[in-house]
Order: sequence, then C-alpha cells, then structure tokens
Amino acid sequence: KTGFVAIVGRPNVGKSTLLNAILGEKVAITSAKPQTTRTNIQGILTGENYQIIYIDTPGYHNAKDTINKMMVQQAKDSLDNAHVIYLLVQPDEFMGPELESLIKVLEKTDAVKFLVVNKVDGFKREQVYDAANKFFPKLQFKHVLPVSALKGNNVDKLIELTVEEL
Ligand code: GDP
Ligand code: MG
Repeated sequence: KTGFVAIVGRPNVGKSTLLNAILGEKVAITSAKPQTTRTNIQGILTGENYQIIYIDTPGYHNAKDTINKMMVQQAKDSLDNAHVIYLLVQPDEFMGPELESLIKVLEKTDAVKFLVVNKVDGFKREQVYDAANKFFPKLQFKHVLPVSALKGNNVDKLIELTVEEL
C-alpha cells in the first residue's frame, strides 16, 4: 500500500517535530527532495506492507499573513495529491483567520482528514478534550487523535490509522 500524507497546521504547532517522530529511525528518508510542480516530498516511511509519502504544502507554509487567493489555490493543488491530511493543532489554539482559511481549503479536498491534537504532554487533559471538541465539528474528520510529537505518544497509533486509509 502506498499513499501521500500531508501535515498542515499553523506555524509552531509541531509539524516538523511530528514528521521527525513519524520518520524516526526505522525509516528511509529521501536525501533528494523531488520537486514537481505540485508536490514536494519530505520523507518516506516504509513499513512491511506499506509506504507513506509525506508531502509538503508550499503554498500554505509560505503564507505569512492572510493567505491570498493564489496561495490558497496552490495549497489546494498540493493537498489534492494527499490521501490523508493531518490537521495539527495544539490544545490552547483558537480559531483565528489563518486556521479558518486552512479549513476552507481542506473542505474542498477529497482526502481523509485526521484531527491531531499535539503537545498533550504540556497541557491538562481537559484542555486537550476542549481543543478536540472545539475543532472536531469544523470539518468532517475521520479520526481525532491526541499525540505528543516530542515524546512520541500515540505516534504509532497515528501511523496505524493512516495505513488503514491507503
Ligand atoms: P512547526 O512550525 O509546526 O513545524 O513546529 P515545530 O515542529 O518546529 O515545533 C515548534 C515548537 O513546538 C518546538 O519548540 C518544538 O519542540 C515544540 N513541540 C513540538 N511538538 C511538541 C510536543 O509534542 N510537546 C511539546 N511540549 N512541545 C512540542
Ligand atoms: Mg516546521
């Protein structure tokens, strides 16, 4: 089984940390980053019977302020390649314009969406639940999963659920 996965979310929520935790040591990371017009491969996780290709979404990552229409389109094109998209949030996150725009983009993709609440190691359990309850209704999420990218909590579960969607 092979599929593309994109990790999206506001800056600093832990996207890079999560990718590193996922790729870990059991992985063959691509040394070259093949760049097509639509997809930028960040790393490949190879398991016994699967291969997950993690892709970058340049349009969204580079957007510093409000995302303009062109960037939204670019991000959308890039996300259209993904089979699964993780929307990464942290427990104290609020619904700002950046997240609103991102959710609008995600709504238009056919990918299976996971709500991933990161940094659970640094927050109270209620805060994690509150965040999950706040963001879950915003999109049609297949799963909601609390993780700690830093400590590695639930990362295996995340991979397992992802493989099910490939
Ligand atoms: P990105 O901008 O979304 O790629 O976020 P980074 O991966 O660069 O992480 C931003 C900051 O959050 C860094 O200081 C990380 O160490 C920290 N961070 C990431 N994941 C976790 C986590 O699970 N728990 C805690 N406590 N901090 C985290
Ligand atoms: Mg990063």
